[in-house]
Amino acid sequence: MFPVPTSLSPSRVESFLSCPMQFRFASIERIAEPPQIHMTRGSLVHRALELLFTHPADARTAEVAVQALDAAIVEYRSDPDFVDLRLTDAQADVLFADALDLVHKYLQMEDPRAVRDIGLELRLEAGVGDLTLRGIIDRLDLDADGNLVVVDYKTGRAPGANFEQGKMTGVHFYSFLCQALFGRIPSKIRLMYLKTGEVIEATPSAQSVRFVTTRTAAVLKAVEKSCVSGSFQPRVSTLCGSCSFKQWCPAFGGNPDLAAVEAPLVFGSAVAA
Ligand code: SF4
Repeated sequence: MFPVPTSLSPSRVESFLSCPMQFRFASIERIAEPPQIHMTRGSLVHRALELLFTHPADARTAEVAVQALDAAIVEYRSDPDFVDLRLTDAQADVLFADALDLVHKYLQMEDPRAVRDIGLELRLEAGVGDLTLRGIIDRLDLDADGNLVVVDYKTGRAPGANFEQGKMTGVHFYSFLCQALFGRIPSKIRLMYLKTGEVIEATPSAQSVRFVTTRTAAVLKAVEKSCVSGSFQPRVSTLCGSCSFKQWCPAFGGNPDLAAVEAPLVFGSAVAA
């Protein structure tokens, strides 16, 4: 009933596991969602840090970091992810001030002049059976011993104290991709939560990389089954509160078959309102 995807990213795998119905809307039917302010803020800060790291190490001062954010803001002023938010000038100022706050917080977490980065916004892909796994690494560093370290900036909330290693599975994709492409497993995967200054590190192993392959193959099988049968089950959770597709979700009395036609109209009018 639906074409089976030939490539998946870590976030799409996680999205299928969180809610197959939402995965159908976003990843199988590819219905474009309206931008959300927290996502635009995250992308803006990622871009500012990327621009900061295009400077030689000794030039990455706080002043240059702020200039990098200014340059990113200029880029985003014409980006649909910003334009379609339709913010007032005052709301846009708040967004940019929040982004500046995150850049300052980043500078309190590490000194970018001391970082030995070897790659920025790396788009990596590797095959698992018939499937291509794709991922973007925010930053790839070398540690003091010359080992690879994958760095992932997070602009959302840090997970609570009950955060389980199992939830780190998504990040182990990066070790899988590094091994497939560079022939080496990174020594660390570092998640930097800019809002709170927290750092969570995972130490990949041959076993965790193998687990990614096995788990992805299992998820793909489940995706295939859903595509062939047309059955994508809704999974109600706290995510429903921010789900763009709630009105077409059968768990909330909606008809999912209408989303492909109606959602672009609804999202378009929401954007134009
Ligand atoms: S409203 Fe909830 S259950 Fe329905 S598609 Fe969205 S996330 Fe899934």
